[in-house]
Amino acid sequence: MSKVPTSIDTHSVMFITQRPDVIMVEGEGSWLTDNNGKRYLDFLQGWAVNCLGHGNPGMISALNAQAKKLINPSPAFYNEPMIGLSNLLTSNSCFDKVFFANSGAEANEGAIKLARKWGQLHKGGAFEIITFDHSFHGRTLATMSASGKPGWDTLFAPQVPGFPKADLNDLESVKKLVTNNTVAVMLEPVQGEGGVIPADHEFMKSLRKFTKEHNILLIVDEVQAGCGRTGKLFAHQLYDIEPDIMSLGKGIGGGVPLAAVLATDAVACFVPGDQGGTYNGNPLMTAVGMSVIEQLLAPGFLDAVKAKGALLRAELLKLANEFGLEGERGEGLLRALMLGKDVGPKLVELARDRAPEGLLINSPRPNLLRFMPALNIADEEIVQMCNMLRELLKQV
Ligand SMILES: *Cc1c(COP(=O)(O)O)cnc(C)c1O
Repeated sequence: MSKVPTSIDTHSVMFITQRPDVIMVEGEGSWLTDNNGKRYLDFLQGWAVNCLGHGNPGMISALNAQAKKLINPSPAFYNEPMIGLSNLLTSNSCFDKVFFANSGAEANEGAIKLARKWGQLHKGGAFEIITFDHSFHGRTLATMSASGKPGWDTLFAPQVPGFPKADLNDLESVKKLVTNNTVAVMLEPVQGEGGVIPADHEFMKSLRKFTKEHNILLIVDEVQAGCGRTGKLFAHQLYDIEPDIMSLGKGIGGGVPLAAVLATDAVACFVPGDQGGTYNGNPLMTAVGMSVIEQLLAPGFLDAVKAKGALLRAELLKLANEFGLEGERGEGLLRALMLGKDVGPKLVELARDRAPEGLLINSPRPNLLRFMPALNIADEEIVQMCNMLRELLKQV
């Protein structure tokens, strides 16, 4: 790996993670370029964020136009893109109301607060939200507590109470945790950080039925799986269910910090003073969000995501066959290759460091690789990625 020129000094950047000795300077479509001019085929896309790839012209012109017009009137006033994007989201989903946030964790905090508020008003103060083992909901204290990531229960102890953990795809494990204090069940339709584990069709259907029967809210965290990633605009639409609350993040902004909480009229019970924030509904970000959602809704776009997902799946299965790997799983363009042994981190490093062109992938668990390319990636780039990976698999 090439070294950062000594003129570039990173000592004032707070250390939170190991980063390679390069600086990313430019992006176009599915390619990133570093400060040495090396190009990388990007199957991370900012962690499933840049759903339209790097340098999307529609997003750029929306950003430029809004920057010239109005950047920040303050959250005390309505602004045009805030209203426009809210309408776009509600008219294409089962939800009636939208609150914008700046990150997925903040959107989930909003979802949690809304459920607890609803519990105070309509369920005798019920506040517990059943979440799942290996789930990921963010890095604030409440969302870390909601997450089922091993070790997070003690990392910044004490946790925020009220998040008992069930097992994904096991309705009995949910039923066992239900008490009079249960106000909601919250889950990712496809667990992303947990290793790309989709909820079963049957499980989702019966979970919706069960929660409805027991006056328990269903919250879907679609920060990673929403916004076209699975080939549906929203991942819960794969299951043909209607949740009560949904959080969005990542893809909704296509790379700018934007997130949202959506709720049905029956659940949207905040009153003045309950919820807010300086940048919530900021027109610069919501204008970009409008461009993103409009592009996802363009005729044929989501069908193309499905087709590209099927191509990626077929190519990954070929690799699995050739190298005797365990297989692959996922929905749409959120997929994982199960390696059968803990060579994921090694492959990530070899991929990044390969020459002349690097490949960016990630390994949320050491025994698998995750792929979350731009939703408009070219078919040839999917094949190219698998050819690069084929070369690397020979080395481990
Ligand atoms: C990334 C992610 C979050 C957190 O989003 P941030 O924008 O990093 O706060 C929450 N839930 C899921 C499912 C995610 O993938």
